[in-house]
Amino acid sequence: MHKLDEKSCEVPEVTCQAETLFKIETNSGVAQGINFIASPNFDNRGAGVLPELIVVHGISLPPNQFGGEAISQLFTNQLDPKADPYFEKIKGVKVSAHALIRRDGEIVQYVPFHERAWHAGLSEFEGRSKCNDFSIGIEMEGTDQTCYTAHQYTALAQLIRSLWAAYPSLKAHKVVGHNEIAPGRKTDPGPYFQWGSLNRLLEKPVSGE
Ligand SMILES: [Zn+2]
Repeated sequence: MHKLDEKSCEVPEVTCQAETLFKIETNSGVAQGINFIASPNFDNRGAGVLPELIVVHGISLPPNQFGGEAISQLFTNQLDPKADPYFEKIKGVKVSAHALIRRDGEIVQYVPFHERAWHAGLSEFEGRSKCNDFSIGIEMEGTDQTCYTAHQYTALAQLIRSLWAAYPSLKAHKVVGHNEIAPGRKTDPGPYFQWGSLNRLLEKPVSGE
């Protein structure tokens, strides 16, 4: 596959308009104004365990194809193993992130944010294992070999800031890639993910704050 120049994935400053925050009702753990598709792939975080970390992932299904319903089907255990050779390989896998950000910036939520979604697998952050216990997982639709879109960074920043506002346990503002908590096993969101652009968007003042 054609290797990208890392610079070419930078998000233009012009796309960094001020956004408003989503209201997240903490009893339900659901964000207002975001499409919610219920996944069964979660359980309770455990007594007294709160979200402290946000994990950014990258996903495309079938691999390297964007659009379509396969990601939502995977997260709701509805994927047809016969629909694509790759789906046969992941048959029976029970996973879900809390939310997905599609290429056009559309956000879909699958799991209430206070619950433990099954997104990180074997993982460790700052000496603490089982990151699902204390993290919120957000998937960006994309691959390790392609740029994420400006719409996606804007939506991601908007969602993260909404989560920071709703869950005081996220007050340390820790955001990492899946690759950082599962090194050697996971590479997403990949080398072209623009952490600098995300951080710039997260630092901007927004209305409602
Ligand atoms: Zn991942």
